[in-house]
Amino acid sequence: MSTDTTPRWDLTPAFPSLESPEFTAEFAAVIEAVAQIKARFEHLGVRRREQPAVDAAFASQADEVIGNWNDLMIRLEIIFPYLHCIISTDARNEAATARLSELETATIELDSLDTRLVAWLGSSDLEALMEHSEIARAHEFWLHRAQVLASHQMTEAEENLASTLRPMGHGAWGKLHGNVTALLTADVELDGQTQTLPMSAIRALASHPDRAVRQRAFEAEIKAWPTVAVPLAAALNGVKGFSREVRVRRGWTSDLEPALLGNSIDAGTLAAMQGACVEAFPDFQRYMKAKARALNVEQLAWYDLIAPVGGEGEKWSWSACEESIETNFARYSDKMAAFARRSFEENWIDAEPRVGKQGGAYCSEFGAGDSRIMMNFDGSFTQVSTLAHELGHGYHNLCLKPRTPLQKQIPMTLAETASIFCETLVFEAAVEHAGKEEKIFLLDNALSRNLQVVVDIHSRFLFESRVFEKRAERELGETEFCDLMSQAQRDTYGDDLSPIHPYMWAVKGHYYGANFYNFPYTFGLLFALGLYARYRENPEEFRAKYDDFLSRSGLGDAATLANDFGFDTTKPDFWRGSLNIIREQIAEFEALVS
Ligand SMILES: [Zn+2]
Repeated sequence: MSTDTTPRWDLTPAFPSLESPEFTAEFAAVIEAVAQIKARFEHLGVRRREQPAVDAAFASQADEVIGNWNDLMIRLEIIFPYLHCIISTDARNEAATARLSELETATIELDSLDTRLVAWLGSSDLEALMEHSEIARAHEFWLHRAQVLASHQMTEAEENLASTLRPMGHGAWGKLHGNVTALLTADVELDGQTQTLPMSAIRALASHPDRAVRQRAFEAEIKAWPTVAVPLAAALNGVKGFSREVRVRRGWTSDLEPALLGNSIDAGTLAAMQGACVEAFPDFQRYMKAKARALNVEQLAWYDLIAPVGGEGEKWSWSACEESIETNFARYSDKMAAFARRSFEENWIDAEPRVGKQGGAYCSEFGAGDSRIMMNFDGSFTQVSTLAHELGHGYHNLCLKPRTPLQKQIPMTLAETASIFCETLVFEAAVEHAGKEEKIFLLDNALSRNLQVVVDIHSRFLFESRVFEKRAERELGETEFCDLMSQAQRDTYGDDLSPIHPYMWAVKGHYYGANFYNFPYTFGLLFALGLYARYRENPEEFRAKYDDFLSRSGLGDAATLANDFGFDTTKPDFWRGSLNIIREQIAEFEALVS
């Protein structure tokens, strides 16, 4: 089974090929099913109801609509990933790109049908509906969310207008940010010559081993951003203004509220988590001091944050990578190890880097319970860790197999639980077996990621909150954005980091998309570490509950689901426990580099 050829995946379980009669038939059938569902919505009057009353006849209509909706989503969960998988490994596949674009056009109306479905059921008497319908009872959590969302919808015509204008409003500002930053270049001296490089390549030099190179790249970057700060500030003002206007019209009382609902957490849980994070900032600052010692510098600069320290990092063959994953997953359970083996044997993974293939990594559901993983294996431990991470998503998909599409709308807060858990399994084993230099390298890798997720993401939250506050009154200038960013960085990283990066608001595309996009990652990391701490304390008890927890992750809000596991995420203590794992890593790192 194990081979040293880095594998490509097998997509044929979905369709024999893009040109096959099977694909052509399903493509046409899906488009037909969208038209049918639309006609049925018209016929049954699926839209906000004036009277909430529910009788047996209405309940049976609701059963039919929920059933049809789920059936359509199941079909889309195969055909969309099939096309995305082809395109992400072969950007020049024009046939797949054309098919995807056709499919997107044919299904675009599902957005407004979804809004109507939410309005229709959300404006009904849910208690009566659940009394009449078993299907409704099985979708209780989704229905309760629909009720809240329906109470925050504008009129159907206004919602329609908002979603029609979205690509030209909110979406256009995001696109402008993407285009302006993609075209931005700067000059930097490399190997004795001045080179003009795209911003992404300049930013990638932040992990260069030579400090002088990192510093020159940073200085080139800081000189380049002001040249595009005016259009980017206009874009950021546009996005935040648009969001705020729609938010107010939908009757949300704060800018944060829709993000909390979208992530299935309440304000108290967020405050408890953030409070514990703030308490841990001095510990992260100790890590930064230790890293400065390891790099032999007086004080850490922004361009040192992801600089490599410790050994070169061991090189891995693909077969060693597979073997390590299977062995470490087996330390958790036979089921998890068997899952990994199956993914290797059935060729679920496309790991070979090649021309035309996207960078990065992802895991996509590929028919009920199955997954496909795209990654670019380069023989580094980071890639071993990436595979463990993505297989964690795959394991989560497996646990979700019995759920309907409406039962498995997993919030971002819980979506990373299984992936980070698996990553931690593999990481702990690697650290255990490493020599001193390798250990420093591995710990620093983990800690610089944790610093990003806990400290930097808090700075993004502070920045975004303060921008919204001021944007309520007027537009902000680019100097104000820089000042707010600098303040947020000083409030989180402390005074020992110099220079800082006042233009991060221009760098990060996140600010130009969904609001408060980042804090769910902090939740995800700390929640998974909290679970891991519980696993170490009592593996038997943990194993008995974990799969069930994953399978129910779309059936409740995060605090309630965690409660079933015996965690009170509304109290800082739970979060302190997770942060203690990071504190242990910091202490070990400090000892190793002293
Ligand atoms: Zn992930």
